[in-house]
Amino acid sequence: MAKHNGHIGAASDQTAPLSDVGTAAAASTPAIAASEPQAARDARENRHKYFMNIAIAVRLRANCKGNRVGALIVLDNRIISTGYNGTPENMVNCLDGGCYRCANRDKSYKSGEAYDLCICVHAEQNAILAAARFGIATAGSTMYTTMRPCFGCAKEMLQAQVRSVYYLHEWNPSAKDDVLKTAAQTAEYEKLMIRFPGGVHRLDVPDPDVNWAVSRKTPASISLDRHGTVDI
Ligand SMILES: [Zn+2]
Ligand SMILES: [Zn+2]
Repeated sequence: MAKHNGHIGAASDQTAPLSDVGTAAAASTPAIAASEPQAARDARENRHKYFMNIAIAVRLRANCKGNRVGALIVLDNRIISTGYNGTPENMVNCLDGGCYRCANRDKSYKSGEAYDLCICVHAEQNAILAAARFGIATAGSTMYTTMRPCFGCAKEMLQAQVRSVYYLHEWNPSAKDDVLKTAAQTAEYEKLMIRFPGGVHRLDVPDPDVNWAVSRKTPASISLDRHGTVDI
């Protein structure tokens, strides 16, 4: 099919097979332009929301008994990598009992604990590692993730020179009943957070599957910032 201004003529291709079904009526029907979905307007007017909604779609493949997370890395407004959480390739999935820690997370290991025993790869890690695997530079990029990065992912993102972070749901470092340890964890976590030159920002995007994706709701610790409402 002919190309117009560099775009493949997808619309003409789609109508071609229907040529023998109500041809006259179809020809006189005006183009479908009357009602633009709100989501389309949001996507066009705010790239942060556009990318976060794609991260939410990536999350659909998450395979973990804990939180389900989707992430993408964006450079120059282009998606260069995606990731979701689950066990390493060719290993038994977390949902099928492949990760001992996640399989016992309600009994022995609480949310945020015993990551050194967990074989699940986090969404942000998978996005960084996919970029590494395919030789894609991540320096100066932006990470969109459906959950605030954990301690480990934050370190790795800094070393990959991720510049800015936008996240959807809260996550806080915590050692449960150990107040002193929690305070130390929070302080160390903050040391990492302030190293992102473009900052760490929470976005306000509706999440239709929040109850499925987030196992333990963490109250927002910081307010939304202006980056969530203005275009880039
Ligand atoms: Zn898991
Ligand atoms: Zn993580």
